[in-house]
Amino acid sequence: MKNTLGACHCKADHFPLTIEKIVIDEHAIDQELVSFVKTASFQKIVIVCDNITDQIAGKRLMSLLHGITEVISLQLEANKAGDVTADERTLVSALNGIPLDTDVLIAAGAGTIHDIVRFCAYQRGIPFLSVPTAPSVDGFTSAGAPLILNGKKQTIQTKAPLALFADINILREAPQQMVAAGFGDMLGKITSLADWEVSRLLNAEPYCPTAARITKTALDQCLARTDEMAEKTHEGIRILMESLVISGLVMLMLDHSRSASGGEHHLSHFLEMKALENQKRQVLHGAKVGCASILLADIYHSLIQVDIDDDQMKKTIHSVYKGLPSGQKMAEWMKHVGGPTEFKELDVEESLLSEALACAHQLRDRYTGLKMIDQYDLLSKIKHGRG
Ligand SMILES: [Zn+2]
Ligand SMILES: [Zn+2]
Repeated sequence: MKNTLGACHCKADHFPLTIEKIVIDEHAIDQELVSFVKTASFQKIVIVCDNITDQIAGKRLMSLLHGITEVISLQLEANKAGDVTADERTLVSALNGIPLDTDVLIAAGAGTIHDIVRFCAYQRGIPFLSVPTAPSVDGFTSAGAPLILNGKKQTIQTKAPLALFADINILREAPQQMVAAGFGDMLGKITSLADWEVSRLLNAEPYCPTAARITKTALDQCLARTDEMAEKTHEGIRILMESLVISGLVMLMLDHSRSASGGEHHLSHFLEMKALENQKRQVLHGAKVGCASILLADIYHSLIQVDIDDDQMKKTIHSVYKGLPSGQKMAEWMKHVGGPTEFKELDVEESLLSEALACAHQLRDRYTGLKMIDQYDLLSKIKHGRG
């Protein structure tokens, strides 16, 4: 992939990959990570986890690395709602728990633990190794850390891991809802890629066909393996994790998240901010993204029928949205993998969802179907929902 994008004909500068090693197999930790640590001759390692991921991966890493180098385990604590969140309290206590002479961190957990570790590694100027415990999100290899600062979610550019070691047997033990969340994050590429394409056609936004193609290929290989993801087979989980990693690497090389994040992510961020404001427990990122993408696909299909007094817009809507799978088809895939398909399953009320559809586009400058809908007041012209 490195060479493919390196030789890219789009005029943008693509960033060279700084990740030295990516391993997704059953010996990722006991063989590959151990030999990586030995070769790098790290002096002091801190494994960052929470009480759940400590049981899943932390303790095992401790015993594998003990004797090779000095190794400490740092367990992050959940907040009152029961979530470990990447907020000031957790970030300060994590930084405080990392001795100054530490030369590498290991993120042993899912998305949030990675974001906390990414931030700490960046602040300390040291590398970190990624050990995902669930195939739940595409951000493991990215440099952006979504943090909650002053009660608001903001993405800060920090650093990507030095290497990623994903143990398939650990990933297969992840709860089905986390597997479905990873699938939901991939499902979101259906609408994020459509949004990027629409913006290219309407606004001449810089577009990298290679990046879009690689992301689409990763998406398609997921869609072809839903049976195996539902069963959590070795191959199904490997393909899901590989697709998530590929999507993350594309973002890293583009140095932005355009390929992987569109209107569906803005809806998800909006709902997440509302949950923070109301101190509600957070729902898995990929669950919200999946539901949002299903909803948007339905809306985008409906737009094809709407009479719009703008020829270029009409042509664009037709050419981009016609080829999208229907919301119903996407819901079938999501359901098959064990995930939610509608926001009411996530306890999001109809009124809040309407507010999200109307306002989420304001969160980012990025042009998406949501912005287009707002610009032409299209929502009032269609009836959405799958009955
Ligand atoms: Zn995502
Ligand atoms: Zn390119």
